[in-house]
Amino acid sequence: MGGNKLAVFDLDGTLADTLRVDHRCFIDAFQIEHGIDFTDDDWATYQHTTDSGIAPEVIERYFGRPAKAEEVERHKRRFVVLLEEAGRAEPEGFREVAGATALLAELEARPDWHVVVATGSWRDSALLKLRLAGLDRFDLPLASADDGEAREEIVAHGVSLADGKGPFEGVVLIGDKLWDLAAANHYGFGFVGVGPGRENLAEAGASRVFDDWCSTGTVLFALTEEAAGCAA
Ligand SMILES: [Mg+2]
Repeated sequence: MGGNKLAVFDLDGTLADTLRVDHRCFIDAFQIEHGIDFTDDDWATYQHTTDSGIAPEVIERYFGRPAKAEEVERHKRRFVVLLEEAGRAEPEGFREVAGATALLAELEARPDWHVVVATGSWRDSALLKLRLAGLDRFDLPLASADDGEAREEIVAHGVSLADGKGPFEGVVLIGDKLWDLAAANHYGFGFVGVGPGRENLAEAGASRVFDDWCSTGTVLFALTEEAAGCAA
């Protein structure tokens, strides 16, 4: 068993296979609310790769002036409405990443593991995506774009949500993008990667990357190894 360990999961592309629908609704909401047609959708070029960081920067890049809070809020509300509509029209766009439920159930059954979600998505959209993917049953503590613009800030908030369960002898961050790996490195946490970007992650130094979560036992071993010695 060992001592207490904390798993900090990203959401989009990591627990829920929502990247495509999320991306489309995010862009459509800019078109509908602000008339913005843009092709600047490589989020890695934005200062903060989170909804709260990207939304004002899109408006600033397009109009050449700082975004107003009200403009960001309008985009956010429209985005969540579009996601809700997409959830009804194409529920297949919100599936879990294969094996996510089994993995979370396995972690939930182990008293030495604690789990939080730290996502760059707005809280309302994250709750919706967790529900549509069938992952809301785990009732996981959630840190979101509502808690900060920088991913590192959101991850730190996620860790703080588990404060009462610690201290942790190990922390591991689980994600699908290079920015997730960067956040793990920033705090000296372990890292486990997943998904189509796994080759990029491996090239950047991540040694434990998976196609999906179907091999629960192997993943659990990887999480334990990566958490070892990476205290919060
Ligand atoms: Mg992700």
